[in-house]
Amino acid sequence: METDFTDKDTYQDLFDPEGYLDTYYNPKSGLLVVDGFLDFVLRKLHDAFCRRGVKGKTLIDIGHGPTIYQDLSACESFDEIIGADYTDVNRKYYERSLRNEPGTFNWDAVIQKVCDMEGKGMSVEEKKKKLENTVKKTLKCDVLQKNPLEPLVLPKVDCVMSIGCLECACSDLDTYRNVLKNVSTLLKIGGYIIISEILNCSSYLSGGKRFSCLVLTEEFMRSAIAETGFEIVDLEVIYRKYDKDQYEICNHDSSLFVLARKVKDVK
Ligand code: SAH
Repeated sequence: METDFTDKDTYQDLFDPEGYLDTYYNPKSGLLVVDGFLDFVLRKLHDAFCRRGVKGKTLIDIGHGPTIYQDLSACESFDEIIGADYTDVNRKYYERSLRNEPGTFNWDAVIQKVCDMEGKGMSVEEKKKKLENTVKKTLKCDVLQKNPLEPLVLPKVDCVMSIGCLECACSDLDTYRNVLKNVSTLLKIGGYIIISEILNCSSYLSGGKRFSCLVLTEEFMRSAIAETGFEIVDLEVIYRKYDKDQYEICNHDSSLFVLARKVKDVK
């Protein structure tokens, strides 16, 4: 299942938010629901923000795509969240989901799960309001640029999070290391980076189109994160059962979550 590198313009031209959400997050058949990724990431995000105390003024969610689940725990620990993604339709879909517009993907069961983990008795409706009020905007961004938010220059933030994006954006491992440096420029020293990726994946199907994925391993991620000026605070990998039909859609064998602290700038 090899495919040529699908660059950011392929995302811009061909990415279908609804097809992606149904294939990967449908509550019954979604590939990332069935393989345990979604529950894993929700648990790790809750752990980072609510138990380990990662908090601050601003968090940037890079490569959010059409999903909002990743911001549900963060909105309890940050005054504001700023979204960032290259693809116009995904930024629009993200905004429409935050406003809870009719016809957008239904995250209610996921929101309920996060409220249950938090144990504060917050209702799904209250959580949606909290999220909508915390995510202030979403910006065009290209992680391949030195300043991913160019031409904007934002004050450095307390946390940068990127879930399932950087391995889509990069054609090779050197580029991935550079992209870590690029996103690090948005972050204060002492601030946190949160990255979650699927591992050993070469391509995935979304909305009838096959997209390339950079093959990442745990060893590479550990060294790339350390080499680009971060100190790992928490790193966990979960494995996935083999299933021929599911692997034909997306062929990762495991998923990784990492929380790391920026200790220095690396040129
Ligand atoms: N966060 C989503 C993943 C979205 S799919 C989830 O958890 O399911 C990957 C996303 O990466 C897409 O929205 C795509 O627009 C974005 N992307 C790809 N190349 C990029 C680049 N160079 N800069 C910023 N975002 C990019």
